[in-house]
Amino acid sequence: MLLKIVQTGDPVLREPARPLTPADLATAELQQLIELMRETMRDAPGVGLAAPQVGVPLQLAVIEDVGESEAQERKPVPFHVIATPRLTLGDEVVEHHEGCLSIEGFQALVPRARAVTVEALDHRGQPVTIRAAGWYARILQHEIDHLNGTLYIDRMKTRTFSSSSRRNLTRARG
Ligand code: ZN
Repeated sequence: MLLKIVQTGDPVLREPARPLTPADLATAELQQLIELMRETMRDAPGVGLAAPQVGVPLQLAVIEDVGESEAQERKPVPFHVIATPRLTLGDEVVEHHEGCLSIEGFQALVPRARAVTVEALDHRGQPVTIRAAGWYARILQHEIDHLNGTLYIDRMKTRTFSSSSRRNLTRARG
């Protein structure tokens, strides 16, 4: 079963999402939601999906990237879950084109930190610390933005906003 991905304009994309506890993550409902989000992300296809994008205002996101690109500093990232993340940004900023499953059909150049540290809970509610650079760091920032009601259009270079005809971008949306 696939979940419906909501599009920009839906108020759920602009609300701060509710934090989750390890006890929340232990419930069958949350485990079911994670499974459905994984299927929905793979079907889209996308490299990340945040719960608000499927209309659920919880601090939960799934991430998986199979892409590789030297220009984007991008390597495969296995499937994993982040819940209730705390994000720390590195100083160096890099710009790349970015798309979003909730802003279907568009892309823009978005400046973001090249490296980040994320403290979060994993799918079992265990605390994890993720140190990421390159495209993975971009995915983490994009998904964590969703949990705070922020979209890439809030951060983009507005004059680069354009239709996403470039095919390679269809596998790089979150
Ligand atoms: Zn997105």
